[in-house]
Amino acid sequence: MSTSTPATTSLKGGEWLIKESNAFETFTPEDFNEEQLMVKDMCLQFLATEVLPVCDRIDKMEPGLMPGLMVKAGEQGLLGSSIPENLGGLGKDFITSTLVNEGLGGGYSFSVAIAAHTGIGTLPILYFGTEAQKQKYIPKLATGEWKGAYGLTEPNSGSDALGAKTIAKLSDDGKHYILNGQKCWITNGGFADVYTVFAKIDGDKFSCFIVERGMEGFTQGPEEHKMGIKGSSTVQLYFQDCKVPVENLLGEVGKGHIIAFNILNIGRLKLCAAALGGAKMAVNESVTYAKTREQFKTAIANFGAIKFKLAEMATKIFVSESALYRTSKWIDDKEVELAAAGKPFNEALLGAAEEYAVECAILKVHGSEVLDYVVDEGVQVHGGNGFSDEYAISRAYRDSRINRIYEGTNEINRLLSVDMILKRAMKGKLDLMGPAMAVSKELMSIPEFGNDDETPFAKERKAIVNMKKCILMVAGAAVQKLMMTLQDEQEILMNIADMAIETFEAESALLRVMKIADKQGETNCQQQIDMMRIYLNDAMDKVNKFGKDAINAFAGGDEQRMMLLGLKRFTKMEPFNSKDARRRVADKMIGEGKYCW
Ligand SMILES: Cc1cc2nc3c(=O)[nH]c(=O)nc-3n(C[C@H](O)[C@H](O)[C@H](O)COP(=O)(O)OP(=O)(O)OC[C@H]3O[C@@H](n4cnc5c(N)ncnc54)[C@H](O)[C@@H]3O)c2cc1C
Repeated sequence: MSTSTPATTSLKGGEWLIKESNAFETFTPEDFNEEQLMVKDMCLQFLATEVLPVCDRIDKMEPGLMPGLMVKAGEQGLLGSSIPENLGGLGKDFITSTLVNEGLGGGYSFSVAIAAHTGIGTLPILYFGTEAQKQKYIPKLATGEWKGAYGLTEPNSGSDALGAKTIAKLSDDGKHYILNGQKCWITNGGFADVYTVFAKIDGDKFSCFIVERGMEGFTQGPEEHKMGIKGSSTVQLYFQDCKVPVENLLGEVGKGHIIAFNILNIGRLKLCAAALGGAKMAVNESVTYAKTREQFKTAIANFGAIKFKLAEMATKIFVSESALYRTSKWIDDKEVELAAAGKPFNEALLGAAEEYAVECAILKVHGSEVLDYVVDEGVQVHGGNGFSDEYAISRAYRDSRINRIYEGTNEINRLLSVDMILKRAMKGKLDLMGPAMAVSKELMSIPEFGNDDETPFAKERKAIVNMKKCILMVAGAAVQKLMMTLQDEQEILMNIADMAIETFEAESALLRVMKIADKQGETNCQQQIDMMRIYLNDAMDKVNKFGKDAINAFAGGDEQRMMLLGLKRFTKMEPFNSKDARRRVADKMIGEGKYCW
């Protein structure tokens, strides 16, 4: 693994909620090194020359086209960025491999195929395989000679993945596991050579197996007819007395859940990266269209309503990107730290991703919802043409929707993010209690007026501190009041999750902007400051709304009144002219012809 980008001082997972981050120690996209930028350019170039010209043919599932493109990507090293060199990969750092996902994210169905192959199709073997398994499969997966797929979901177990019914039984001679069952919605399933498949040994020990195309008793169903990502292969898998050699057991008997959940942590962050790449592509299409389409004798880009949309798309992208690379660097640093402490490379990365599992879930939800917002408004900017297959934005719209469903639905990820924060607190890994008590005490005290802090962005920093107080106040009171029944009050958990998501994202954008402004001077980064303030203002309103909904759902009497007053106090913001800020952001993009930050 490369350590070419200097280490930052990382917070522990979830710690941003109780600590103020240092902007100058935060990694931002402005910190990418030359090699990282080169890798991203390579990906964009690959899309432009190899993928985008054949998107229609990909969506018609022209036989051999997608697998052929994957081989070409492999020849350019795009499948092996996270694979160590001794296994045929490039051994790049986590940020670089995240940049590959972003760079290839604008490739519609191709992006899905490649993300599934390099992620869930390869990583289980890379991180959990024996030396022999790694030597057999990884070099071929790294070049694209073999394609990978991942079979977890079944007709009756999706979100409840551990409810799988597929069973495995050791054969009488002890040489094979005999698999029986069915998997559904398997990406790359129609052409993959290697499948990571989950089944319960003897019906109760959830375990993982490497299944190869052609193994006796293993067949695939026909392609699903889908709403979007039409060029991505999605099939069912059938196992009828399928004989899997015992040496193809992946990991330990009964420990399949460790593989499934750990791989998902990384997958969620990478999905955010791919969504970011797709969103940048869609906003660029929209800017180009808005500049050329004329109505009422002027380009539609000149209308305030269109500028609003373009600025809002850019703002959400900027924020999502800030949070993505802030977290990627934390994972990178943690991986280096664990490796230095003697952990083998697989345990180092898995440990690092697990440490930031809360942030990975947040990124997944936010990234997929930003993409959905951007493509939806992108279609609107295109008017009737946005509804036509002739325009790329209509494909982007159809292809976006799946991102809120797979890698854990956004509901599951919202619930998980709060659950994981609370569990970290209970295990003593995160001191929520102290800061939550301090907020309760503050509620009783006389409010401080004025803010003497005149350092740059003092008001925005205070706003973030206050957003965190809202979360601590609401979550702390909900835990105290509802205790064990809180898990049944999903609406409240969703409110808390949304407060946390908005706060983490807004803070990430603020830290990035503080760093840029310090380097370039505030006058040279006006639009970045605008985007941060636009987002922060809206995020504060959302925190107020979600907080109010939660408080009203579980509190009553004096406690309710006091918390609502506290919420009002903490979410107070000075008036901000977001219209002018959005115009500045949109005008810059219209001038440059693209998203340019
Ligand atoms: C195109 C496509 C490609 C896919 N690729 C793969 C793949 O390669 N490999 C693979 O294994 N799987 C794959 N999947 C499956 C995907 O991961 C599942 O669809 C997803 O996990 C949701 O499961 P489900 O469809 O059974 O929905 P369900 O779990 O039935 O969920 C239905 C709704 O109920 C909600 N819900 C469920 N449980 C809860 C709960 N406890 N609390 C609150 N709300 C809840 C969900 O959020 C959702 O809104 C793919 C799916 C699609 C559509």
